[in-house]
Amino acid sequence: MATAIVTGASRGIGKACALELAKAGYDIVVNYVSNEQAAGEVVKEIEALGRKALAIQADTADLKAVQAMFRTASKEFESIDVLVNNAGVVDDKFLLMLPEDSLERSLDINIKGYFHCAQNAALKMMRKKKGCIINVSSVSSVVAIPGQSVYSATKGAVNSMTATLAKELAQYGIRVNAVAPGFIKTDMIDQIPEEQKEEHLKAVPLGRFAEAEEVGKVVCALCSDAFAYVTGQTVIIDGGLSL
Ligand code: NAP
Repeated sequence: MATAIVTGASRGIGKACALELAKAGYDIVVNYVSNEQAAGEVVKEIEALGRKALAIQADTADLKAVQAMFRTASKEFESIDVLVNNAGVVDDKFLLMLPEDSLERSLDINIKGYFHCAQNAALKMMRKKKGCIINVSSVSSVVAIPGQSVYSATKGAVNSMTATLAKELAQYGIRVNAVAPGFIKTDMIDQIPEEQKEEHLKAVPLGRFAEAEEVGKVVCALCSDAFAYVTGQTVIIDGGLSL
């Protein structure tokens, strides 16, 4: 039985990825950092689909916590076949009002967290000579939005790490790709004031924000054999925003 670890799967895009992968036949590790109840509900939804699921609390910025999560996952599941590096934070701040703790937290979760999980997953996948890592980036990696210098830098780093890791891990049969969502209806987007949301909407050629499931379906497709010859790519899912 194939297993996927999805970080930040208690809500939003991570939850949607977890559910789509479960529908595709994967057992799922539902990682979360603080929202135990929400993670538990995702586990129930996955079990209702006939798959095994386990919620594991771990702050992905904390290497020891990530190592412990992979140890637990390895005891409970036969193999780790897919990692979706999704847990991320946005904390919009203009450069001149950028607190050090906000900068550090964003770098720690959005970049270091992805490396921690990719490293631990690759160690497991290498043994099977097969695996798939999907990094959730953002359209902010290619579109400049004032206030998002830190966020966009972290997501640009995700695109670069994706390409380099793809080349590095290809010899072990591990594919590494990224998705770069535009505006997706999650708690993260709910933080944006309504007037600003309306402005952002005007820049989306398809004229709407996306459902999280629309990202989950692309992530799931990238993990499938249909994309067996695709690695190192960043797929933009933004309704045309970046065109
Ligand atoms: P969200 O609704 O805010 O959910 C964030 C998820 O990440 C939650 O499950 C949260 O767990 C988890 N999380 C946060 N910090 C964590 C940490 N240190 N360790 C482990 N888990 C952690 O976010 P989202 O909108 O779904 O975004 C998910 C990803 O998509 C992020 O990487 C984000 O940058 C990217 N993205 C989102 C959008 C968008 O429009 N929404 C657009 C582009 C890219 P708890 O529930 O326990 O707090």
